[in-house]
Amino acid sequence: MDLMLDTLGSLERTHTCGELRKENVGNDVVLMGWVAKKRDFGPLTFIDLRDRDGVTQVVLNEKTSPDAHAKAKDIRGEFVLGIKGTVVEREGTHNARLATGDIEVHATELLIFNTAKVPPFELEKAGSQNLASEDLRLKYRYMDLRRPQLQHNIRMRAKAVRAIREYFDGRGFIEIETPILLKSTPEGARDFVVPSRIHTGKFFALPQSPQILKQITMISGFDKYFQIARCFRDEDLRADRQPEFTQLDMEMSFVNREQVYREMEGMFNHVMKLIGVEFPAEWPRMTHSEAMRRYGSDKPDLRFAMELIDLSAELKDTDFAPFADVLAKGGEIKCIVVKGRSDYSRKQTDELQEYVKRYGAGALAWIKVADDALTSSLAKVLGEEKVAELASVAGAEKGDAILIVAGRRSVVAAALGALRLEVARREDLIDRTAYKPLIVTEFPMFEHDEESDSYVAAHHPFTSPMDEDVELFKTAVNDPSQHHLLGQVRAKAYDVVINGYECAGGSIRIHQKEIQDLNFKALGMTPEKARERFGFFLDALEYGTPPHGGFAAGIERTCMILCGTENIRDVMAFPKTASAQDLMMDSPGEVDDSQLKELGISIG
Ligand code: ASP
Repeated sequence: MDLMLDTLGSLERTHTCGELRKENVGNDVVLMGWVAKKRDFGPLTFIDLRDRDGVTQVVLNEKTSPDAHAKAKDIRGEFVLGIKGTVVEREGTHNARLATGDIEVHATELLIFNTAKVPPFELEKAGSQNLASEDLRLKYRYMDLRRPQLQHNIRMRAKAVRAIREYFDGRGFIEIETPILLKSTPEGARDFVVPSRIHTGKFFALPQSPQILKQITMISGFDKYFQIARCFRDEDLRADRQPEFTQLDMEMSFVNREQVYREMEGMFNHVMKLIGVEFPAEWPRMTHSEAMRRYGSDKPDLRFAMELIDLSAELKDTDFAPFADVLAKGGEIKCIVVKGRSDYSRKQTDELQEYVKRYGAGALAWIKVADDALTSSLAKVLGEEKVAELASVAGAEKGDAILIVAGRRSVVAAALGALRLEVARREDLIDRTAYKPLIVTEFPMFEHDEESDSYVAAHHPFTSPMDEDVELFKTAVNDPSQHHLLGQVRAKAYDVVINGYECAGGSIRIHQKEIQDLNFKALGMTPEKARERFGFFLDALEYGTPPHGGFAAGIERTCMILCGTENIRDVMAFPKTASAQDLMMDSPGEVDDSQLKELGISIG
């Protein structure tokens, strides 16, 4: 199309496309934006003009402004326009779906600043069910970002970050930037590395978090630090992960755990106000072991009950071999009660069984408490009396179904924890308007890695053991025959959980070199290796390190809650795909041979 494009010249916009109301009727206005929709009715042409604030209906009338009307013939969706005109109250029905729905603008002049190719997908089909494929939308991210929903999310994110800054600034924290070109940091993921040209053969690592540096700011005497920090982790991606993400990172000196909890509560309480949610000043706390026992998860969703109930005691003398075997090996038998679902069909219980098998469970047993009788997959093997006893211990009432899993503790927790969530989704038990915060405390210090039969840091290697467990920790590290006791050591580590999502985590740190040395030893690191990786930090610990602790909160995760989305890419302006690619820029990409040569790298 051969169109003469207009220039902006000295024209100034008077209002945004979301701003005009009845009070503006009679005003002469200038609006600028994109064509969201155009309808041609012969002598009248209607244009919905959109900018980041909203949409305004513009009318071009052949009689009163023939030039503008004629010019409008050629325009299409996403053309960039300026219009001059007068605000008029709409005749007949007002559009209640638009904030500007009471008025329209009768254009006297139309400027076409730019054309647009036919969009690769329809933007205005905004209902999320109708969206084009995500890959296509990521390739044309600048188009997708024009959608009101994403405009809202990205602005909400900006507000959240501002609220966080406001909060910490008001509390005397100092914002300190730490480098992106760093040395390997220990959050347990793979590093992204950057080759050094000047020091051929050497590499920087991008920070998995600013963990060590924020601790060093405490050693440096800053007392209260925060940063909106970019972190990079080269992990196998899951739906809700991105290779780079942002976190609020904070650290403070001379504090106990409660003092850090207060800052976590304070910050989240301040941020949640953005969506009108009032959290209690002090949130509930739950130890990790209680969370695992009651919910089978270290991030329990407290918007509904359906807790796990332990049936092991009632079955301790059972001669049903699979159960007896589990108990003899220190495992357990637990259940959840699904209210009002004694009518579960065979197909449904089979489906749920398949579901728990994904989490390692061997089978799913069930009891249904129907009006007239109990039925159970265990009736034959346990006898009706035992089944009735189990139903009563589970607290099931008439009409309920009981779902039972037996196995190793970790398997029972994982399977029933996941089943609890799945059943809640299927039965629609989750109150979508509720927000339930929780601080989970006393995480285990180590996780056992079965493959290598070694212990890895559950949080990171700078996390302090609980005072009560320091002796246990020392014994487990120093006496090789007691190494397995590491699994019992609890740490001063904690998480913020909101509606079943882990939104933040942190710990009180080790501030004494002796304990830090022991911890590296516990993790199977020789003193030489520890020195090689963290020598600078071990040195720093010896120059007067104050007791300190802190936390980091995921900005994306928090924004997902603020925006009510389960898709992390909905709260990032330029996210990567689940396979870690940027489809818009087509990265990662190749580099020139000359660049590789300069870096001393050859690709084999
Ligand atoms: N560095 C930790 C993380 O990124 C948080 C912390 O311990 O403060 O998860």
